[in-house]
Amino acid sequence: MTEPVEREAACTCGQLRIRTTGAPSIVSSCHCLECQRRTGSLFGAQAFFPRIGIVATEGERSTYRRQADSGAWLAFHFCPKCGSTVFWENERLPDIVSVAIGAFADPHFPPPVRTVWTRTKHDWLGFPDIPHHPESPATLVPR
Ligand SMILES: [Zn+2]
Ligand SMILES: [Zn+2]
Repeated sequence: MTEPVEREAACTCGQLRIRTTGAPSIVSSCHCLECQRRTGSLFGAQAFFPRIGIVATEGERSTYRRQADSGAWLAFHFCPKCGSTVFWENERLPDIVSVAIGAFADPHFPPPVRTVWTRTKHDWLGFPDIPHHPESPATLVPR
């Protein structure tokens, strides 16, 4: 029997945390301009966990809501002290919680299995040989 893997993601200052157990449903990266602005980096990288895989959240958080191109509302939870976004929710996927991969600070975290919004990917940025979607795929989380 394999033990469920417990992981913890945290903001830069460490006060906002989320603990997960088990494997993510999907690991993905996103080159949309909103992820670029949210992270200040060239792409967002996230792990979608089943909500039952969320063990706990701790710390103060602020929430920023925006509407995705699909029309769904997204709620991004970030640290009011240091500003890091740690996790977020999509109103159309109530059973899923997305966690920013960088917040795990684990270079051995499972790699993305697909990448989306490559229409706005930086020209010079190479990416692994995984499915590339120019925009958002029809199914956010394959079952
Ligand atoms: Zn913080
Ligand atoms: Zn994005």
